[in-house]
Amino acid sequence: MTEQTDVVVIGAGLAGLVTARELGNRGHKVVVLEARDRLGGRLWTEDRLGRKLELGGNWLHWTQPHAWAEVTRYGLDVSRGPRSEETYWLAGDEVRRGNLDDFMALIDPGMTRLLEDTMKWLPRPDAPLTNGDLAEADQYNLQEMLDKLDLSVDERNANEAAWVGHFNAPLDQCAYVNALRWTAASSGHWHLMHEASAIYRLKDGNDTLANAIAEDADAEIRLNAPVTRVEHNNDGVTVTYGGGQQLQARKAVITLPVNILHKLDIQPALSEGKLAPSRERTASQGVKAWMRVGRRGTPGPIKPFFAYSAQDKPLSVIRTEFIGENDAVLVGFGADGNRIDVTDKAQVQAAVDVWRDDLEVLEVAGHKWGEDPYAEETWLIQRPGQLTKYHAAQQASEGALHFASGDIANLWAGFFDGAIESGLRAGRTVHAELKA
Ligand SMILES: Cc1cc2nc3c(=O)[nH]c(=O)nc-3n(C[C@H](O)[C@H](O)[C@H](O)COP(=O)(O)OP(=O)(O)OC[C@H]3O[C@@H](n4cnc5c(N)ncnc54)[C@H](O)[C@@H]3O)c2cc1C
Repeated sequence: MTEQTDVVVIGAGLAGLVTARELGNRGHKVVVLEARDRLGGRLWTEDRLGRKLELGGNWLHWTQPHAWAEVTRYGLDVSRGPRSEETYWLAGDEVRRGNLDDFMALIDPGMTRLLEDTMKWLPRPDAPLTNGDLAEADQYNLQEMLDKLDLSVDERNANEAAWVGHFNAPLDQCAYVNALRWTAASSGHWHLMHEASAIYRLKDGNDTLANAIAEDADAEIRLNAPVTRVEHNNDGVTVTYGGGQQLQARKAVITLPVNILHKLDIQPALSEGKLAPSRERTASQGVKAWMRVGRRGTPGPIKPFFAYSAQDKPLSVIRTEFIGENDAVLVGFGADGNRIDVTDKAQVQAAVDVWRDDLEVLEVAGHKWGEDPYAEETWLIQRPGQLTKYHAAQQASEGALHFASGDIANLWAGFFDGAIESGLRAGRTVHAELKA
């Protein structure tokens, strides 16, 4: 006889783990099926380069209410990377050096003008479609909005590089509305947005959060259990996974990243409102690169720094995240996974040489998220039109199927916070349906 349960949750990333906790701890029998051999999904902490590194999601902030509630709930310690003592940026091919305030002053006019209408378009970032005219703004990509500002070459380079750091994609593919959403979630202040998205991290690694939720959840989590088929009707769901095992449940919660959702065999098929954005794909195709560097020639300490180049370089941003006696571990971001192999030391060295030929790359670490069959994307950055066309349909349940993912959240979509928000919502709605 086929195994029975109340709810199957597909995926043990943050969205799936939170969903499982909410339902399991309300008395429902929950089984989580996870394709990988580990928890966390796009949250992935590993001991590499002598440090605990986040190969996936990294930073969180107290302006992210769902994420911070978890920090408080589990008593997790928060720390930050070293404060930058110098900042490098490019003016044409010439390298400029100053402090972070100089760089911030350089990008401030562009950022301020680009984002001045943020709260008009998104008066309620927690309900992103509140302004019924948002489709008007959602037709533009970020590049064309930056071009309209007619910035000097220096300012333009600097603004573009900063946005690549945020958006991990070619800017002409990113919806302008992503920038509005991030800024609106920071109450309209771009400096705060910058801080919220890239400074504070969990001291002992983000896996402490995933593990804490999993331990707290009265649910059975099965790793190495890729789901291959989902059949559903109004009465329930049959899920096929692993080597052909089956589970029957009253409800299933699917937490797959947008880019791979259309590849899962679901019968009857999902609505076009979910399949179309998945086939179109998100814009999120960039890289995150980790590297341990030392001084070329004479060994010595490395001052904490930030460096911004231009959007067409393999890495547009790098910065120190950990400082050692004679080395430092840097993190970098680039717009396109086809331009650089983050696991190839020579390619990473060439990217660093753009700013600094005094640093030698000693070791590298990274993950090719675009080639990862269980993600095929980094963090959510939508293309123009996708938010206003698909958001409501992406969140909607379809019969016995419910959906949760950081990619379809309201407030901090594309962040840990969004994944948790979305897991909380799925937990609440599925519980209400099961009770009824
Ligand atoms: C490089 C990188 C940097 C980031 N930086 C930040 C950051 O600094 N701050 C921040 O807040 N966010 C960041 N993010 C985003 C954040 O990591 C994600 O938004 C969040 O972790 C998504 O959680 P999720 O549960 O929605 O999706 P996922 O974590 O992707 O979970 C989905 C799960 O489903 C599993 N799965 C897929 N297919 C199947 C299948 N067929 N059967 C069973 N299981 C399946 C996957 O293995 C995965 O575990 C970053 C992401 C990346 C990749």
